Amino acid sequence: MLDRLLDRLEESQWWPKDKLQEYQFGQLRPLMQHASARVPYYARLFREHDLDPDQLLSPKTWYRLPLLTRSLVQEAGSDLHSSLLPEGHTPVSRQLTSGSTGSPVESLATPVTSLFWRAMTVRDHRWHGRDFSGKLASIHYTGSGVAEPPHGLTRPDWGTATRDIGQTGLGAVLSIFSTTAEQAAWLNECNPHYLVTYPSALKALAQHCEEQGHHLTNLRNIRTFGEVLDPSVRELCRRVWNVSVADTYSTVETGFLALQCSDHEHLHVMSEDVLMEVLDDDDRPCQPGETGRVVVTTLNNYAMPLLRYDIGDYAEVGEPCPCGRGLPVLKRVLGRSRNLFVLPGGDRVWPSLELSEETDLAQLPVRQYQIVQTSQELVEAFVVAHRSLTTEEESIASRAIQRAVRHSIPVKFHYVEAIPRSPTGKYEEFRSDLRSTSESAAPPA
Ligand SMILES: [Zn+2]
Repeated sequence: MLDRLLDRLEESQWWPKDKLQEYQFGQLRPLMQHASARVPYYARLFREHDLDPDQLLSPKTWYRLPLLTRSLVQEAGSDLHSSLLPEGHTPVSRQLTSGSTGSPVESLATPVTSLFWRAMTVRDHRWHGRDFSGKLASIHYTGSGVAEPPHGLTRPDWGTATRDIGQTGLGAVLSIFSTTAEQAAWLNECNPHYLVTYPSALKALAQHCEEQGHHLTNLRNIRTFGEVLDPSVRELCRRVWNVSVADTYSTVETGFLALQCSDHEHLHVMSEDVLMEVLDDDDRPCQPGETGRVVVTTLNNYAMPLLRYDIGDYAEVGEPCPCGRGLPVLKRVLGRSRNLFVLPGGDRVWPSLELSEETDLAQLPVRQYQIVQTSQELVEAFVVAHRSLTTEEESIASRAIQRAVRHSIPVKFHYVEAIPRSPTGKYEEFRSDLRSTSESAAPPA
C-alpha cells in the first residue's frame, strides 16, 4: 500500500496548480459528505449556516466555510469526532498536543493518516538523497524512561516510517530528556550519517560541538522538525559540521504540512494530504511575498476532519519553485519556537511537558500557556484559563513543569487574558530569559 501511494506521489508532485486543486476538491467531496453525516460539529455548522457541502467544493466558493479556530476545537471536544468510520479507517488512536500556540487539543489518527505520514517521511528522505543504508540518529521526545542517556537505544532499522520499503541501516535514538552535553557525547559515540532533531536542540548541540571540537566525521545531512528553523542554525551547521539542514513542517493533528525542496531552502506544501490556505487579516489569500495565517484542511482524516483549521502559525507565501514541482511554496514558517533551559552549572535541556491522556495535566482547564525561566531560581507560568487553578492543581502543574525542565525549581503562576507572540511572530511555548548562549536570531522581516 505504501509503495502504491509513493508511486502516486512521485507523479503528483509535478502536477500543475489547477490539476492539484481539482484533485483536492475531488478528495474533499466524500470527506465533506462524511463530515456532514457523521461529525456532529459539522452537521450543526452546515445546518446553522445553511451550507450545502457540495456547493463549497471549488476554489471560488470554498471560502464560505467558516474557519475552525483552536479554541473552537477545544470547545467542540468529541463533537469533532466521527460517530462511524468507513472501512480501512480504524482503529483510531488519540494524542494530546499543545500545537503551535501552547493551547492543548486532542487529535485523532487513523491507519490512513499514518500511511500518509509514512509516505511523506519517505518522500523527504528521497528528496534529500539520503542513503537508506546509512545510520540515522534521532534525538526527540520518547516519553520518560525510554532511550535515556548515556546509551540511548539502538535498533536494526530507521523505524516504522521506512519499514515497508526494504532494508535500512541502523537507527539510534536518544531521549530529548538529556542535556546538550549528553547528546554531544552520545553522537560522538554513534557517529551517524544522518541526524534528526528539533531546531532549538540542534542549535545548542552545534554550539556545544563547535566549542568542544566534536566533528562528527560521518554526518551528511540533518533533518529538523517541530519548531521554527532559524536561518542562522543552517549557517552554524555548515560551519561546524559542513552539512546542510533540511527542514520539515508538521503538526500532530494534521501530519506533514510541508517539506523542504530538494534543491532550495524553501518548503513545498504536501497538497496530496492537505489543502493549505495562507490568509491575510481580511481572510483573503496571500500572494507571493505576503505573510498570513496558515489555514489547513486535512484531506484524509475521517476520524476527526479538520476543515479550514486555523492552526495558529504564520507563513510567507513563495513564488512557484524553479525545481518544476507544482506543489505550492512557503518561503518561511513562523510557528512554535523554544529556548533551552539553563541548569545550575550551565548545561542546557530541551523542556517539554508530558501532555499525554494519562497525565493529570490533561484534566486542567488550561486553554493556553507559556513557561518562562526568569532566573536560575525561578520559573514563571503564564496561564490562560476560564478560572484560576486550585492550589492542588497548581502543584500538579508545578511538578509537571519541574519534570519538563529536569530541575526542582519554584514555579510562580500568573493568570492572563492572552499570551502574545514574540516580536518576530513566533509563539514561544518555553522561553528562557537567561540568554547567554541561546539568543534567538530573528529571521529577516
Ligand atoms: Zn522546489
